[in-house]
Amino acid sequence: MTQTRVVQVVDGGKGLELVERDLPTAGRGEVLVRVEACGVCHSDAFTVEGWMPGIVYPRVPGHEIAGRIEAVGEDVVPWEVGQRVGVGWFGGNCGHCDPCRRGDLISCVNGLVPGIAYDGGYADHVVVPQGALASIPDELSAQDAAPLLCAGITTFNALRESGARPGDLVAILGIGGLGHLGVQFARRMGFETVAIARGTDKREQALALGAHHYVDSTGSDVAEALQALGGAVTILATVTAPDAMSAAVGGLRPRGRMVVVGASGDPMQIPPFALIPGSTGVVGHASGTSKDSEDTLRFSVLQDVRPTIETYPLERAAEGYARMMSGDARFRVVLTTGA
Ligand SMILES: [Zn+2]
Ligand SMILES: [Zn+2]
Repeated sequence: MTQTRVVQVVDGGKGLELVERDLPTAGRGEVLVRVEACGVCHSDAFTVEGWMPGIVYPRVPGHEIAGRIEAVGEDVVPWEVGQRVGVGWFGGNCGHCDPCRRGDLISCVNGLVPGIAYDGGYADHVVVPQGALASIPDELSAQDAAPLLCAGITTFNALRESGARPGDLVAILGIGGLGHLGVQFARRMGFETVAIARGTDKREQALALGAHHYVDSTGSDVAEALQALGGAVTILATVTAPDAMSAAVGGLRPRGRMVVVGASGDPMQIPPFALIPGSTGVVGHASGTSKDSEDTLRFSVLQDVRPTIETYPLERAAEGYARMMSGDARFRVVLTTGA
């Protein structure tokens, strides 16, 4: 085979189109992955809508890639042809900047993101640096593994590094692609888990996923509802609406933290006095490295965490992307290649 299918963006805001391209080859330190499934993340909008300056078009979006190694380039160790692998937001680091030299690979100032820095997973094949690879356990299908590689690792890693301990009250703000996994991780990490979403539509699903409590943010004051439960040690903010985040900050227990993972460019307004009396804080959290992805996948097998997905074949990627952007997907859209 010398041709392969990709779904590319010709220019920001111009939509997605399926085209055939020459099959790429793996260079030194790279592997060619046969893509089996690729999740559709809200951050794909950076590429599709042209929200991020500096993207070189045409570009293939997609950073929730699950597949199998089809070829390895020179100097690739220990990865082998045939191995099941995934690639997430962390698509490689430089190895020589200050954060890299301190071992903080996710903070690499030259970090590469698939679908932004190089062509991503809306395709039959993708070429990635070997450092971006995570091993996929046999127990996970490619379709289930894909969303765990961005939505999953982001919530898993943010929660396990939040400082919350078993039994602590932890709230997941927003029950969508990220939040529905956040609820499962929080419950299975031993936290008293609160799901917060707009309306009552998601109540049953949130409880079924493991939430002990459900708060309808349209029908009650979120901060008051959390305080009535004792106050949250951690609020994991997965929504992309800063207003919803600021409305929840008052629900933190003294010394509590809101951990922000919902990517938005809009400003968040928080009165300083909302933070001072309880010494509370708002912090961001970057997803994690390829090794953190492996931890996420292994924990998901161990504790039976799975994404709830809607699948679309690769040729209907534009439809799948629109479905994700509508906010109506339950809960993650995944593209499948038929491989
Ligand atoms: Zn993502
Ligand atoms: Zn670096």
